[in-house]
Amino acid sequence: MTATTARVASAHPSIASISTGLLIGGQWREAADGRVFDVENPATGEVLASVADASPADGDDALAAAVGAQAAWARTAPRHRSEILRRAYELVMERQDWLAEVMTLEMGKPLAEARGEVAYAAEFLRWFSEEAVRVSGDHSTTGDGANRIIVTREPVGPCVLITPWNFPLAMGTRKVAPAIAAGCTMVLKPAPQTPLSSLALAAILQESGLPDGVLNVVNTTDAATVVGRWMASGKARKVSFTGSTGVGKILLRQAAETVMRSSMELGGNAPFIVCADADVDTAVDGAMAAKMRNMGEACTAANRMYVHRDVADEFSERLAARMAALKVGNGLDDETDVGPLIDSAGRTKVQRLVDDALQRGATALTGGRLPDGPGYFYPPTVLADVSSDSDLMTTEVFGPVAPIIPFDDEDEVISRANDTDWGLVGYVFTQDIDRALDLSERLEVGMVGVNTGVVSNPAAPFGGVKQSGLGREGGKVGIDEFLEYKYLAVPRRRGR
Ligand code: ADP
Repeated sequence: MTATTARVASAHPSIASISTGLLIGGQWREAADGRVFDVENPATGEVLASVADASPADGDDALAAAVGAQAAWARTAPRHRSEILRRAYELVMERQDWLAEVMTLEMGKPLAEARGEVAYAAEFLRWFSEEAVRVSGDHSTTGDGANRIIVTREPVGPCVLITPWNFPLAMGTRKVAPAIAAGCTMVLKPAPQTPLSSLALAAILQESGLPDGVLNVVNTTDAATVVGRWMASGKARKVSFTGSTGVGKILLRQAAETVMRSSMELGGNAPFIVCADADVDTAVDGAMAAKMRNMGEACTAANRMYVHRDVADEFSERLAARMAALKVGNGLDDETDVGPLIDSAGRTKVQRLVDDALQRGATALTGGRLPDGPGYFYPPTVLADVSSDSDLMTTEVFGPVAPIIPFDDEDEVISRANDTDWGLVGYVFTQDIDRALDLSERLEVGMVGVNTGVVSNPAAPFGGVKQSGLGREGGKVGIDEFLEYKYLAVPRRRGR
């Protein structure tokens, strides 16, 4: 990602059709100072396109557009908002293959996974099109009978939405769709590594009838300043962020100054627990899903695999065999199972964590070495007997590395699993229903996969406890993050 004023014309037809400007008040425009930055294909290092690089003044314009559109948008009929989302759902699914190719080009994940993400992203549009018409309030009477209590729900107001690069489309729809459903306007700042998917989504929402100014999209290489001004403005009423815990804390501090509602989806350090009575086939399938989805670049990724000593060797060998059989390559090739990591910094971090674990006595059953050649590839890696003082135990690896730690008893494994500042998700594998429920209850996390390595679903409340975040996205409660309560006290007439 380099800042420049020279525009690159994309050689890829799928990208050439995407508007790469800033979307402000319904108009696509260049940055005021004409600056752009390059978007790189992590599989090849090729520059795919250049997109407008918003200055702080452009950012201010975008927020002003959102603020200006808020009052009229809040008064629109829920069914109107619902149908815009429904049309967008249908357009995204009609263009699934195109959006998947764009995503693979800018982010690296294999095409099959990219198609899966497009469908997952579209489901948020559909889910919240259904929720838009289901917002309701409450009616009751004060204890002394003197007043009626009428409770209504209102949109919270203009929102700041900040998304990461690992799920470029789904992290956008998971915020944009409930905000639209609730009647909020918004400024969206996608990650600079993957702006193209969000730009394509914005154009689809325009085509679906979203009024000017409701969604404003600003890409920038200066997130700290552009977003910092939104946070300090006093005009934005809500921030919803998905990304690292460090940036989440900066935003929470800024939100405190203007008392903004905050939703935070931050890092994870997921424990993956395989009990002695687990079905090992199911556990290995679960481990492949929980570890290898998105090349391990997911906050839900299994970061620490605690496996009962009785099954540790069998589980490790079978997992290593499955991991070693995966084909690493350019995500555009049909045979590819594992694409590149996002960038050089991401890959260097993975290698450092693996080297540290090996130095502390772990054994690499497969992988563990950087390949030669272009692209940010890293091989699927299984590390056996990882010691508890390895940096991997306390750091989100964000790569295709499965560290296995044998355990002997349940109390020990629960205390190790919970010995972390994070609490997003945990996974439990056992054939005993009582054990499954007991361990799930004792894990300090927001979500548990029981005999499955996949928890994400638009119909479920996604989110974590501890330093993994605040609030939930999706499910019945997802829209609540974008609504405020208002209560009307209405005296009852006496003597009737
Ligand atoms: P990662 O390390 O995985 O890239 P980040 O938390 O740095 O995760 O990035 C997530 C999102 O937060 C991106 O859109 C990024 O541009 C944005 N971001 C990074 N720094 C800041 C900041 N100081 N203020 C607001 N947004 C930021």
